[in-house]
Amino acid sequence: MTSSPDRLRFYVDGAWRQPSGTERYSLLEAATGEPLGTAAMATPEDVDAAVRAARRAFDAGEWGSASAEERSKLLHRFADALSARAEATSTLVSRENGMPIGLSRVANGAGPVAQLRRYADLVAGMELERPRPSPLGSTIVRREPVGVVAAITPWNYPQSLAMAKIAPALAVGCTVVLKPSPETALDAYVLADAAEEAGLPPGVLNVVAGGRETGAAVVAHPGVDKVAFTGSTAAGRAVGAECGRQVKRFMLELGGKSAAIVLDDCDLDVLRAGLETASFRNNGQTCSAQTRVLAPRSRYDEVVEAVVGVAEDLVLGNPLDPSVTCGPMVTEEHRERVLGYVRAARDSGAVLACGGGRPAGLDRGWFVEPTVFVDVDNSAPLAREEVFGPVLAVIPYDGEDEAVEIANDSEYGLAGSVWTSDDERGLDVCRRVRTGTIGINYYSLDFGAPFGGVKQSGVGRELGPEAVDGYLEYKSIYAGADRLSGSS
Ligand code: NAD
Repeated sequence: MTSSPDRLRFYVDGAWRQPSGTERYSLLEAATGEPLGTAAMATPEDVDAAVRAARRAFDAGEWGSASAEERSKLLHRFADALSARAEATSTLVSRENGMPIGLSRVANGAGPVAQLRRYADLVAGMELERPRPSPLGSTIVRREPVGVVAAITPWNYPQSLAMAKIAPALAVGCTVVLKPSPETALDAYVLADAAEEAGLPPGVLNVVAGGRETGAAVVAHPGVDKVAFTGSTAAGRAVGAECGRQVKRFMLELGGKSAAIVLDDCDLDVLRAGLETASFRNNGQTCSAQTRVLAPRSRYDEVVEAVVGVAEDLVLGNPLDPSVTCGPMVTEEHRERVLGYVRAARDSGAVLACGGGRPAGLDRGWFVEPTVFVDVDNSAPLAREEVFGPVLAVIPYDGEDEAVEIANDSEYGLAGSVWTSDDERGLDVCRRVRTGTIGINYYSLDFGAPFGGVKQSGVGRELGPEAVDGYLEYKSIYAGADRLSGSS
C-alpha cells in the first residue's frame, strides 16, 4: 500500500468541496495501530451544502424526472465503476475495521455491486402508476420518490450498509446524502469516486463524513425528507426522536442480542460448522451475531464443548491474511469497551470457559481473544447488552418452551438461529421467536429478502425488493370526478 488514502474534501454537488472547519479524524489500522489515513469531519455548514445540493437535484434536477430506464443505465455504470475498485475497497475496509479479507471481498466488494445492479434492474421494470376503478370513475394510484434521503451508517459493514440505502433510494429517483462513520470514512469516498466516474448528475449522491454531531445535523436538517439509519439503539433513539419531532420518515436498523437455540436433537457437527458465521462473523462486530447460545441441560456439556471448540479454532491475526478468521476490533476504544464487558462478567463471578483477555503475541492492534462464558443467567448484563466483539454467553435451559421464552426475553429482536436435526421442529421454533430474521442450522443474510428488527432492534426493513417501499410515497389522483355532471 503506497498511496495515502487521506480524504480531506467532501463530495458535494458533483464536486470536491473544501471543509468549512478544521476538525479531522486520524484513522489507525486496526491490526497494527499504525496511521492509516486522515479524514475531514463535516460541520453543520458542510452538511447544509450537501443537503441543499441533494434538494436541488431532487426538486429541479434531472434525476427524479429521468425515466426509470435512464436511471437504471446510470446505476449500472456506477456498479461498473465500483466493481473496478472492489479489491482495493475490500482491502481498505479490512485495514480500517479489522474485517477478515475473505468476508470483506463479499461485504465491501462484490456484494454492494450486486445490490446496486439488483435495484437498477428492479426499477427498470417497476410499475409506479396504475389506474384503479373508484365509485367516482377512476383513481390513479402513483408511487413517487420520498425525496432527499439521509443515509447514516456505522463502521462494521460500511459499504454494504451504505449501498443497502443508496441503491433502492437512487433507483426510485431519490437523492442521497451519505454520512459515514469516522472509523470508515476513507472507504466511503470510493462511492463518490465511482459515482463521479459513472456520471451521476451533480447532487444525486453526496458524501460528508463526520461523527455524532455531523449525523445529528444531517437528521435535523429540514431539507431531508427521510433518514435511513443503521447504528446503535442509543443513537437510533435520538434519530427517531428528532424525526418524530419533524414528522420526517425514518428507518432504523439497530442493535441486537440474538439467540442461537440449540435443540436437544442438534447435530453437533452442523453446529460446529455453522456457529462461526452465526456468532463470530466479522470478529463479533456484527449486529446479527448470535451471542447468546441457549443449550439444553440434557446435552449441556457436549454443547459447551462444541461452542468452546468453535471459539478456540478461530485463527487470530491480520485480517489481510486469508487464513485469518478473527481480526481485531475496529479501534482501541472499542477493544477496551469489549474487554470492559469481559472484566465485569468475570468480576460478577461468571464462569469463563475460554479466552477472556488480549491474545498473547498480538501486542499491536486491537485484538480480543474469542471468549465464551458458560452458565450465564439471561438477566446478566452479558446476556442483555450488545458487546459487539467475539464474546459469547452460553445459557442453559430445560425444554423447548423455556428456550423460546429465554430467546424472547430481550429488548432486542434482530436475528437468531435454531439448531436441530428436525427441520419441521426448527421451523416451528423459528415461528415462535420474536425477531426480524432467523435461520435453521445456519445464519447468513439473504440479500434478496427483507432484513431488519423488531422491538428495540429497529423500525422498518432494508434489502430485498421490499426495500424500495421505504423510498416511495403513495399519491392518489382522483381522476374520474370531472365525469360527474354538476359535481363541484
Ligand atoms: P453508532 O450508533 O455509534 O453510530 C452509527 C452512525 O450513527 C455513525 O455514523 C455515527 O456517527 C452516527 N450517529 C451517532 N449518534 C448519532 C446521532 N445522535 N444522530 C445522528 N447520527 C448519529 O454505532 P456504531 O458503533 O458505528 O455501530 C455499531 C452499532 O450498529 C451496533 O449497535 C450494531 O448492532 C449496529 N448495527 C446494526 C445493523 C442492523 O442492520 N440492524 C447493522 C450493523 C450495525
